[in-house]
Amino acid sequence: MVPNTGSYRLANARLHVSLTPGLSAAFDSDGFALADIAVADGKIAGIAEHGRTAVPVDAVDLAGRIILPCFVDCHTHIDKGHIWPRKPNPDGTFMGALNATGADRAARWSAEDVARRMDFSLRSAYAHGTRALRTHLDSVAPQEEISWPVFETMRETWRGRIELQGACLIGIEGVRDRKWFDRLAKRVAAAKGVLGVVTYMVPDLEELLDHVFAQAIKHGLDLDFHADETDDIAAISLKKIAEAALWNGFEGNILVGHCCSLARQPDLNVLDTLDKMAKVGLAVVSLPMCNLYLQDRRGDHTTPRWRGVTLLHEMKARGIPVAVASDNTRDPFYAYGDLDMLEVYRMATRILHFDHPVADWPQAVTATPAKVMRLDGFGTLAAGGDADFVVFKGRSWTELLSRPESDRIVVRGGRAIGRQLPDYAELDGLMVE
Ligand SMILES: [Zn+2]
Repeated sequence: MVPNTGSYRLANARLHVSLTPGLSAAFDSDGFALADIAVADGKIAGIAEHGRTAVPVDAVDLAGRIILPCFVDCHTHIDKGHIWPRKPNPDGTFMGALNATGADRAARWSAEDVARRMDFSLRSAYAHGTRALRTHLDSVAPQEEISWPVFETMRETWRGRIELQGACLIGIEGVRDRKWFDRLAKRVAAAKGVLGVVTYMVPDLEELLDHVFAQAIKHGLDLDFHADETDDIAAISLKKIAEAALWNGFEGNILVGHCCSLARQPDLNVLDTLDKMAKVGLAVVSLPMCNLYLQDRRGDHTTPRWRGVTLLHEMKARGIPVAVASDNTRDPFYAYGDLDMLEVYRMATRILHFDHPVADWPQAVTATPAKVMRLDGFGTLAAGGDADFVVFKGRSWTELLSRPESDRIVVRGGRAIGRQLPDYAELDGLMVE
């Protein structure tokens, strides 16, 4: 379907208006236009509305198949990935996940264990069409000394295939040990990483947040928070993060994940928080699959009654950048998943109503996370950009999002890649007691 020459023309492809900034064409109500794409030497040489210029006879006719830019997955945990067979979540709750993962980390996360599971995850993400990925790295002592060097090696190994970013992950209470936390911030800066913290309500939250911001400013780091991953309406650390950003005059990028409790709070409180978030330019990533799995899990075997996701529509309406991402894969925080961003988008469409209209929601897995991660040219299709895109069978949203699209074609640098997924059996040796 895609010639293996690196230079060719694809005719009659369906492109989305929100992902092709340079294309002037007639878009339908779903945001699609038919277009021809010229690829030369691994780059996109040009994109034009189909029928506007003569199509050469050797062009490949895609008959209206959808092409999307390669995905950007801005919130994952590939250091935790795939430990499920040896450490399942005993009851499907958040506390069950936290305790199981902590025990597994202390007992099993050697450099080799982390590296092999990370590589497995990255091969899956790459095969599904992901081009850039941010992972959190559990950095509670002594894990930071094991995982960060592994991450740095992995980033080099994968350069050119997946652009890898790392953010440290510790509970906000870990910031109380100033000496240790400052050393961690320095280590993260040395790795050109992102400073990340999990926030929840503790009495000294404001003071601790001020210190996190001070360290980020000192080292010129972007920030990435896990905030309020709970149904407790008293959990307002998202608002505290926005306020701390304002007080501290922070100018870097801030990405906040989860923000589940916001969806349970009274409207007036919500509006105040949204105002502050918009003012400070903070971005939000929702993790719909993981939230659906962990939130509203009831110990008494009754049925969950809310979806767990945060208020992405209200945020987007205020100009707050919003994304969705994979989060955990086959670990105690989420029993399933394979770092397939099409699956994330499909699930987000159902859980978060990314439809009626679809509008520019496709940016939530492409252009928006690319901007948050400071990756120029990622997440859009444009002349002069890399020919990194995914060719699907689907010719409409209903076709695209109804099947797994396991036979999608992933094109990198103009050439279709081998898409074989790693075999689970590869990890069997890591799963024995
Ligand atoms: Zn997470």
